[in-house]
Amino acid sequence: MSKNYVKTSTGTWEVVIGLEVHTQIKTNSKLFSGAATTFAGEPNSQVSFVDAAMPGMLPVPNKACIEQTVKTGLALNALINLVSVFDRKNYFYPDLPQGYQISQLYHPIVGPGYLEIDIDDTVKKIGIERIHIEQDAGKSVHDVMPSSSLIDLNRSGIGLMEIVTQPDIRSGEEAMEFIRKLRLLLWYLGTSDANMEEGSLRADVNISMHRPGTPFGTRAEIKNVNSIRFIGQAIEYEINRQIGLLEEGEQVVQETRLFDAAKGVTRSMRGKEDAQDYRYFPDPDLLPVILDEGFVQGLKDSLPELPDQKKKRFMESYGLSKYDASVIISDIRTPTYFESAVKNAGEKEGTAKLIANWVTTELFRVLKEESLEIDQSKIPAASLAELVNLIQDGTISGRTAKEVFLDMWTTGKPAKIIVEEKGLLQISNTSELEQLAENVIQENPDVVQKYKAGKDKLLGFFVGKMMQLTGGKANPKIVNEILVKKLSE
Ligand code: ADP
Ligand code: MG
Repeated sequence: MSKNYVKTSTGTWEVVIGLEVHTQIKTNSKLFSGAATTFAGEPNSQVSFVDAAMPGMLPVPNKACIEQTVKTGLALNALINLVSVFDRKNYFYPDLPQGYQISQLYHPIVGPGYLEIDIDDTVKKIGIERIHIEQDAGKSVHDVMPSSSLIDLNRSGIGLMEIVTQPDIRSGEEAMEFIRKLRLLLWYLGTSDANMEEGSLRADVNISMHRPGTPFGTRAEIKNVNSIRFIGQAIEYEINRQIGLLEEGEQVVQETRLFDAAKGVTRSMRGKEDAQDYRYFPDPDLLPVILDEGFVQGLKDSLPELPDQKKKRFMESYGLSKYDASVIISDIRTPTYFESAVKNAGEKEGTAKLIANWVTTELFRVLKEESLEIDQSKIPAASLAELVNLIQDGTISGRTAKEVFLDMWTTGKPAKIIVEEKGLLQISNTSELEQLAENVIQENPDVVQKYKAGKDKLLGFFVGKMMQLTGGKANPKIVNEILVKKLSE
């Protein structure tokens, strides 16, 4: 049985989830005006007459927003609609000066597509129903003045893509993985900053429960969830709430709910509106958006290497494991660092794997400790490559390398200098090691006898002695070879 089913005393339930993801389109100016889109500007400093809905102002579509959305659609394997139409969605809210939001209901710019997610070692396709373009609203500020609310229109009119999935998601883990994967894709594409803390990516979570094999149940919609962890928590809570209702013989109401992160619960906000409540109609100020195939093809040709392609290439051309490749591609900066280190280290058997190891363990650890991004690393890619080369040519042992690495991090000195200054050179000189081995054997005749009588494990005793005598700098491979040879004489 799928582990996504929920078992209770009354039987089995299946959870059904569809997401509506709102993500800010990365452009310099807004969807229908030339005002700037920078985050955290002085309140109301990035507002044109169009964004403030002054009488007589007319919207002019920003071509960059169209391009970014089409690129996103193409990366989601989606149908691009060559004709799409902007509609007005009418409602009143203090931070919406027009009294309507310009959106695309009936003819969205992007049609069906899909995104593949990795879940439990298998690949699952999550259907994309559509992507449409719409305006963001302004922001009401309630916590600055004690008895009034303020309005900041900087966000008003910024272009959003709304990416709507099919109800294909079956668990909180899948929903979280979908958002992680989508966010990564948007980063690679450069079509959205997709930053949940800054609110440039937020998700509405639609969720219902039903008995497997029966039609889908009634869904509740949890609005504007703004962290991946909260998405998981909100889903967990809703699963229990809805099963509770259904098992009591009650109904799930189709409604809009809010997630209270402090309490970990969802709460009813309002009944669910239908399209007719918003009196949608085509915006008479805007012509349909008509694209030609050459324009779409041009954008398709300009797409960068996407996460899944990069992962595949890293596995095939560098011999990385699926796990290592996944870790390295899971942000935009690490692949650049990794590939630069590999290039600097030179193409040798196993180099890329060794570098992948150093990046995902030692380097990630120190970066995390100091809350740094990899492009702020105190050890540049070329320096890590040099350290790896020293291990490969036997100059230092892997153990010594860890010490050198930390020194590089704190002093900024190159690996070679540290090795010289601290006298960390690995002893690979065979005659020197042979002499040492001879001494160790002479000094421990009783152990030699036991070894020769069949106690093979005692080899470790001699290796240990040699390491002690050399301060851990003896090349362990050569030491082993010498000892085995001498002890069998
Ligand atoms: P609306 O625009 O009114 O919110 P849509 O039909 O566009 O409604 O669906 C919005 C989202 O709800 C989509 O992501 C869809 O996959 C999801 N959805 C539809 N039916 C269900 C259901 N029974 N359970 C969970 N999610 C659903
Ligand atoms: Mg909705």
